[in-house]
Amino acid sequence: MINVLFVNICIIVTFLYFSGVLSKRYSIGISSISLPVQINSGILFGIYGIVLMLYTIPVGSNTYADLRHLFPVVIGTYIGPVPAIISAIIIGIGRMMLYGFTSSGIVACIGIIVVGFICAIISRYPWTRFFKIILMNVLSMFVIFISLMINIKDIPTVLSFYPLQFGIAIIGGLFVYAITEYIYSTNKLFVQLEKRATTDHLTQLNNLRSFDVAIKTHLAHANQRGETLSLLVIDIDHFKKINDTYGHSSGDIVLKSIAKILLDYSRSFDVVSRNGGEEFTVLLLDCPHQHALVIAERIRLGVQNHPFILPDQIPVSITISIGVATYPDTVAVPTGHVLVDMADKALYEAKNTGRNKVCSLELEPTK
Ligand code: GH3
Ligand code: MG
Ligand code: MG
Repeated sequence: MINVLFVNICIIVTFLYFSGVLSKRYSIGISSISLPVQINSGILFGIYGIVLMLYTIPVGSNTYADLRHLFPVVIGTYIGPVPAIISAIIIGIGRMMLYGFTSSGIVACIGIIVVGFICAIISRYPWTRFFKIILMNVLSMFVIFISLMINIKDIPTVLSFYPLQFGIAIIGGLFVYAITEYIYSTNKLFVQLEKRATTDHLTQLNNLRSFDVAIKTHLAHANQRGETLSLLVIDIDHFKKINDTYGHSSGDIVLKSIAKILLDYSRSFDVVSRNGGEEFTVLLLDCPHQHALVIAERIRLGVQNHPFILPDQIPVSITISIGVATYPDTVAVPTGHVLVDMADKALYEAKNTGRNKVCSLELEPTK
């Protein structure tokens, strides 16, 4: 019996690990889970339950137990009611397909579906995951007890093996909780760290590291597909004065507002970053130079006309200068630092010729 129990545990760990890899891909535990992902995870956990039925644990003469109900339990706890019910229905149908459409098969099938609904109801309560798993597991075992009583119709026989089956289920449930909790929390930590490494903490825009990756990737794409890629380098005019006059925290409020304006005025697929201090960039994908100049001007006007309100209801006027460069319109080579240099030079020109303006430089003639 111990060796089959061991095989069951190995199967469960393998499946949970595999699901952990998938759940990282879908940010499970971090953001809300879409219905297709919920349905797919229900189907997957239903298939896991069917596989587990092939490795039943002998608990008495001609009597076998398995841990199939733990799959609706675990998916109900970690994802929600929809996959709990779907996985239970799949396990129920699998039970009949594997062992025949007998009356005991129908009872077992209905039993696991009832388990699925119980898990679905419990999953909706705001209890701890530990409490939910224990409660779902115990109530599932109660349903399994009733199913056994209906099928075997002999209390002493059922009672001769049921305590062992119950014990295995509880230990299995605790084991599954420990493994899943570990996978769940490490996944969550991984996604949070990944976000922190690529996001600017003040504005939540991309940081310099993500910008470097994005410009390299999008230049390569533009080069391959024969598309254009424009870069806006944006710097706030006389920003130091805001800090010096109203304080650093007021400066931070302005930076956050500028970030929002940049997101509002660029297109959803453009890459908006804070490259450091009071300097921002917008990578305009598949955007020719003339169109980039139009977008840049729109952003400049958007900032100029925005009512910036500091604490104590102090209104301030902010302007920005923008340098624009475009591959291949004003920069001949698809190289990140060359595009950035060209946009920087254009920004320098804007600063030196009065600020609050958009500038770009012509393509340097090849010698
Ligand atoms: P210019 O028009 O020439 O760009 O002048 P400027 O004052 O904007 O430029 P300067 O480079 O002299 O000053 C930039 C200021 O940005 C200095 C620095 O204190 C401020 N700064 C950099 N990072 C932050 C930040 O995270 N928060 C705040 N509040 N200020 C910052
Ligand atoms: Mg600056
Ligand atoms: Mg500045």
